Amino acid sequence: MRHPKVLTSALATALGLGLAASLGAAPAVAASAPTGVPTAGNTAVAYAGSAEEAKANQAFFDAVVKSVAKKRAAAPGAAAVTVVYSAANAPSFRSQISRSTQIWNSSVVNVRLVEGSNPDFRYYEGNDSRGSYASTDGHGSGYIFLDYRQNQQYNSTRVTAHETGHVLGLPDHYSGPCSELMSGGGPGTSCQNAQPNSQERSRVDQLWRNGLASAFKS
Ligand SMILES: [Zn+2]
Repeated sequence: MRHPKVLTSALATALGLGLAASLGAAPAVAASAPTGVPTAGNTAVAYAGSAEEAKANQAFFDAVVKSVAKKRAAAPGAAAVTVVYSAANAPSFRSQISRSTQIWNSSVVNVRLVEGSNPDFRYYEGNDSRGSYASTDGHGSGYIFLDYRQNQQYNSTRVTAHETGHVLGLPDHYSGPCSELMSGGGPGTSCQNAQPNSQERSRVDQLWRNGLASAFKS
């Protein structure tokens, strides 16, 4: 969930934030994610999606699929594909996370999100000039980082459901309309839609038919 490039790189400069600095060390940020009270801000957060970000989204999805596949191999009789998450490190976003879970679970049939122990991915919260994102910790574990300021500027359920869309394998599509969940920050802060559209739903169902099958092979 990022901002259009023009706007945000200018803002990053204005804020004195080094892009190079913020590009590095994602795992360290999440591992030590602060859990303090969100602070209000009047400047927009983060910048546009990059190739780097798309790669992180893909690595994140691969990590989630691998984790799920490992569990299914151990319990081959299980009917539905279940992706387990932990929200323990994102206490301020409990209601958004459970709403996002509800939205996705009522939108797709081939995969199910469930909160539980031994999670396939984790939610974190904190302050990050990059805004919210999905990534891996470099050891094959996926996480979603929810940024305080961005979640105050944008519809917070939309941000959470968008990032969770990456869990399910959807890439960013910032040029899309508000009716698309993966257009993220593209349509601006006024966009309140937190539901995936029909294409996004069928893409996820398709991915979890094929994606999981290919994960089993490796
Ligand atoms: Zn995104």
